[in-house]
Amino acid sequence: MVRSFLIKYAEIGVKGKNRYIFEDKLTSHIHHSLKRLDGDFSVIKESGRIYAHASSEFDYDEVVSALQCVFGIAGICPMVQIEDKGYEDLKEQVLKFIDETYPDKNFTFKVDTRRANKQYPHTSDQINRDLGEIILETYPETKVDVHHPDVLLHVEIRGKNINLYSLVIPGPGGMPVGTNGKAMLLLSGGIDSPVAGYMIAKRGVTIEATYFHAPPYTSERAKQKVIDLAKLVSRYSGPIKLHVVNFTDIQLYIYDKCPHEELTIIMRRYMMKIAEELAMKDGCLGLITGESIGQVASQTVHSLAVTNEVCTLPVFRPVIGFDKQEIVDISQKIGTFETSIEPFEDCCTIFVAKHPVTKPNLDLIKKSETKLEEKIDEMLKQAVETAEIIRC
Ligand code: ATP
Ligand code: MG
Repeated sequence: MVRSFLIKYAEIGVKGKNRYIFEDKLTSHIHHSLKRLDGDFSVIKESGRIYAHASSEFDYDEVVSALQCVFGIAGICPMVQIEDKGYEDLKEQVLKFIDETYPDKNFTFKVDTRRANKQYPHTSDQINRDLGEIILETYPETKVDVHHPDVLLHVEIRGKNINLYSLVIPGPGGMPVGTNGKAMLLLSGGIDSPVAGYMIAKRGVTIEATYFHAPPYTSERAKQKVIDLAKLVSRYSGPIKLHVVNFTDIQLYIYDKCPHEELTIIMRRYMMKIAEELAMKDGCLGLITGESIGQVASQTVHSLAVTNEVCTLPVFRPVIGFDKQEIVDISQKIGTFETSIEPFEDCCTIFVAKHPVTKPNLDLIKKSETKLEEKIDEMLKQAVETAEIIRC
């Protein structure tokens, strides 16, 4: 019976010193994700391998789903680990493994043996042939196919233990979170920004988030939706420190002083500024947004250039070249879509002009912003200082 999982990870780019960092982070993330489930697991790193062994009852599907959220995992192999008690016992155990794993014996197979223990008294070829023979004899419906088998049975002889597995369930891929610095996600209640956060976390980046809240124009429910989204992303990224910035006064001030068709772009420049300040305070090395070229007026290339001008940190925009449907597909896959489409107002849409500029001119925008000189610095400072922190 399956009591263990062999965790496969892609080793490309994981060399030298980085390899240990990568493996240790991955081991620790697997440990944490399994700790939340029912059952006791030990997660061990052993000569270039990571295993999760259960020492109590557990829910198989729950374990697989949890592991499918851990970035860095390329494949999950449910495995039976047996002790080496001689050749005859190995044959028996293999037959039992086949019987339990495949109730329907109408399949083609191939046995693939690897010996880390070269002392083992039979060669890999011999073992492949002997095991193949006994499987065919015991289950006559099966057939051998060495080129494209339905079932590729791996037999790994390692020291005193022998691993048997045949299934490789795809993992999420990517790199373990925490192996590649930290970045600040501008998280709204929409579809795009949770996807953007997921994509950057997948590359090993730790995520913090900033949400711009505009009470009473945006409700507590809208804020809760963002918290819910952060929690959904945190299933993959690990805990997210969410900064909730009260943006109402700044929005009203801009609304009062600046041309309404420039409102969105000016507002977005201040959002980026505040997010960058919070990012730098916490050691984030970049910003992340869910912007995609051409999706709305504030995301034309001209608008993006004007927004970007306020930032000194690099801005990562992982969905920049995606169509909406492509972003929706990812949000459905990662489970954020249903929450993202809940109908709660967004602070950007409330103050939006009927005809926002689509080709803003940087000089004109800066000129409009001079009308804010009197109070804006103090307001920005206030917004940063009073940001509420929610651990998601
Ligand atoms: P999303 O689906 O992510 O809300 P969107 O298509 O609605 O994106 P915009 O509203 O123009 O696009 O926002 C572009 C990006 O700016 C968002 O993806 C997000 O990163 C950031 N953003 C927008 N509104 C907020 C907000 N209220 N708080 C934090 N970030 C925001
Ligand atoms: Mg939005």
